[in-house]
Amino acid sequence: MKKILITGAAGFLGSHLCDRFIKEGFHVIAMDNLITGDIKNIEHLFKLEQFEYYHHDVTKFVHVPGKLDYILHFASPASPIDYLKIPIQTLKVGALGTHNLLGLAKEKGSCILIASTSEIYGDPLVHPQTEEYYGNVNTIGPRGVYDEAKRFQESITMAYHRFHGVDTRIVRIFNTYGPRMRLNDGRVIPAFMGQALRGEDLTVFGDGSQTRSFCYVDDEIEGIFRLLMSDYTLPVNIGNPHEITIRDFAEEIIKLTGTNQKVIYKPLPKDDPMQRQPDISKAKELLGWEPKVGRAEGMKKTFDYFKTLSKDDLKKTEHRDFSKRNTR
Ligand code: UDP
Repeated sequence: MKKILITGAAGFLGSHLCDRFIKEGFHVIAMDNLITGDIKNIEHLFKLEQFEYYHHDVTKFVHVPGKLDYILHFASPASPIDYLKIPIQTLKVGALGTHNLLGLAKEKGSCILIASTSEIYGDPLVHPQTEEYYGNVNTIGPRGVYDEAKRFQESITMAYHRFHGVDTRIVRIFNTYGPRMRLNDGRVIPAFMGQALRGEDLTVFGDGSQTRSFCYVDDEIEGIFRLLMSDYTLPVNIGNPHEITIRDFAEEIIKLTGTNQKVIYKPLPKDDPMQRQPDISKAKELLGWEPKVGRAEGMKKTFDYFKTLSKDDLKKTEHRDFSKRNTR
């Protein structure tokens, strides 16, 4: 049985990866320190013999006994609200955490896949973003702690690959959504859905002309799985190229949720990228991958998930209001 270590296992993507690799017949070692993850996302796996959970912070030395075939490094805060609250941890998990996991991969001869992000393109001046684009990042802005940690992560991964011969993969993940997103992470989809469920107006930041391209989680996981199983060591974009403005997206959510709230406008957070759309030619060609789930279907499944949350969970939602700081 192949053994895989998944860091950030109790998070949104990490927990879906645990499910997928269990389904594929792997022995899964799940690791998380639960700073932003939620144990509820993986509780259903605890009864399985081929599943183990280690409560551990990967910025400290990581030990896993025995052989280890694969490592997926998905531990990281991943939303602007988290970077503001825990900036140092965000930097450390991308930098020190990645260093520890690459060391583990080298020691065990494991193949390691690193979760990178469209954030490494910053506020992009090239559209859509191809893997060859170097990006436009403000190193000292509020998102810099995440963006630069992820850029360092890519560099150190390539250095371990080139210098030590470690078998590495780098996935650049674009905005992904689906069940198990954290309702209070401040991201636009949980924010809008939470607002719809509580009967509040939907808060669009700026004039809403900024764009995003949203990928349903099942598609994202399939792309990551295929990349891991390939032998391609340079970064690959995995995301859905179907682009929409945030203003139009808010209207879509109002229609989907059948609510009659209005859209209200709040200041645009500093360094909020104006446009984002992956060029997925590489993934199509190398992995035969492209997204299959359209926004209408994916959003419906996601809304169905949010509807199952309790009234108390819904109340706990935090809002990002940048009107007092970090606005431009
Ligand atoms: N956004 C918004 N209202 C909200 C939360 C987010 O208009 O309540 C906007 C945000 O400014 C950004 C877009 O939605 O332009 C996507 O934000 P998210 O945090 O989900 O992802 P990211 O900016 O990292 O792509």
